[in-house]
Amino acid sequence: MLNLVIFGAPGSGKGTQSAKLIDEYSLYHISTGEVLRHEIASGSELGKLADSFISKGQLIPDDLMIKILDEILLRHLKDREGVVFDGFPRTIAQAEALKELLAKHGSELHAVIGLEVPEDELVERMIKRGQQTGRADDTPETIKNRLKVYHDQTQPVQEFYRNQGKYIPVNGTGVVDEIFADIMKGIETSTGEKSRKK
Ligand code: AMP
Repeated sequence: MLNLVIFGAPGSGKGTQSAKLIDEYSLYHISTGEVLRHEIASGSELGKLADSFISKGQLIPDDLMIKILDEILLRHLKDREGVVFDGFPRTIAQAEALKELLAKHGSELHAVIGLEVPEDELVERMIKRGQQTGRADDTPETIKNRLKVYHDQTQPVQEFYRNQGKYIPVNGTGVVDEIFADIMKGIETSTGEKSRKK
């Protein structure tokens, strides 16, 4: 298996690069943000609860988020060649839980790709995405909160993985395909894995 986390601030290009990763390495994509947006769109109780946090730019509480991920892995991990975790973990508690959840399935996390983008560019990208897609949390006030939450709660996860030798920093600015080429180089150097594209 090849299990990767795509890590970075909101607007750093995690979704875009995840799409390329799943294609290149035949991986299963788990975007916790997409899962939650799907619940909101369906009008479920979980969706209503999630919306009360997402609309303020806050994180869903760890115990709930970990339970959701546990259920996704139970349903989808079997017979997969690996997973790209996009938007998870966002806290140290989630990072610790991910290790345990993967161990439960006899697996482990192999590498964490960190997309590094300056803050002014992150804001610009999210404002543009909000205008183009209507994504409800891409508004100036919510963006400000999401960046603060990222600095306070998510950035420590970078150090957590750096200390384990799993963090691969990648410059997330410039041309999408060039960023992806850097990601592939990083994966090969760190895990020995090459493209699995048939
Ligand atoms: P994303 O699409 O990854 O930017 O996520 C959108 C929003 O969903 C975030 O701002 C959070 O409110 C919520 N969310 C997504 N993933 C997580 C997570 N791992 N932990 C807590 N909240 C999350």
